[in-house]
Amino acid sequence: MALIVFTDLDGSLMEHETYSIEPAREALEELTARKIPLILNSSKTAAEMAAIQERLDLHTAFICENGAALHLDTGEIIEFGARRETWLDEVHQLRTQHNYSFHGFNDWSPSEISAITGLTIAQADQAKTRFYSEPILWRDSESALQRFQYELQEMNLQLLQGGRFQSIQGVYDKSDGMRSMVIDYSKQQQTRSLTTVALGDSPNDTAMLDAADVAVIIKSGKSSLIRCPAPQRLIHTKIPGPAGWNDALLEILKLYDSDQLINSKSNPITGN
Ligand SMILES: [Mg+2]
Repeated sequence: MALIVFTDLDGSLMEHETYSIEPAREALEELTARKIPLILNSSKTAAEMAAIQERLDLHTAFICENGAALHLDTGEIIEFGARRETWLDEVHQLRTQHNYSFHGFNDWSPSEISAITGLTIAQADQAKTRFYSEPILWRDSESALQRFQYELQEMNLQLLQGGRFQSIQGVYDKSDGMRSMVIDYSKQQQTRSLTTVALGDSPNDTAMLDAADVAVIIKSGKSSLIRCPAPQRLIHTKIPGPAGWNDALLEILKLYDSDQLINSKSNPITGN
């Protein structure tokens, strides 16, 4: 039985405010030592994630923009979302037409994004390099939001709640790239008994968590909104961010070593 780990970044592996990953260092090193693949699955852009992968000395595949695309370690990119350029103008027309009060990454300069997020200007530039999604801050009423969401649905788009922003994007989520990755990795490893672990802290992680054998809900301001009934083991961390991430993964590895991680060998993703 092999393990593969999928994780959200902001508020999970990375500190929400400082973007530090240091508190997760012990578990990260343990994963590296055991050659267990760690797949980053974030609302961040490919440019941001490539920089983070470099920082972590990670050379695995990753999933960007809330599940829009899977970047394989071979350089191949598998897309699940419609390109932003095909719908963003129409969304902005809706805003003008109904006088909706919201702004997003396309409206902001790198220095404005830096002020809102605490990213450096260079990182904000990477965050603006998006192909599939538009993170926004909604400043209008709840009823206007409902109307806007209905209009997005009509355009085959959706609004997903992340940790800091709401994301306008196509109808895909963080589980699409994950499923594709699991099939790919199972073939590579020639194994049918792959155990998937997923860690996340926000409602936009729900699909990823629910598609895993072992799901870890990292404590956050929004973690109580996550509902995922499918995993065979569900772990709630007591502490938020990378420190909680670290504790949960070390616990998972301990259970894995004593063959107590999951009862059955069935895999909800591949159906094996
Ligand atoms: Mg998060």
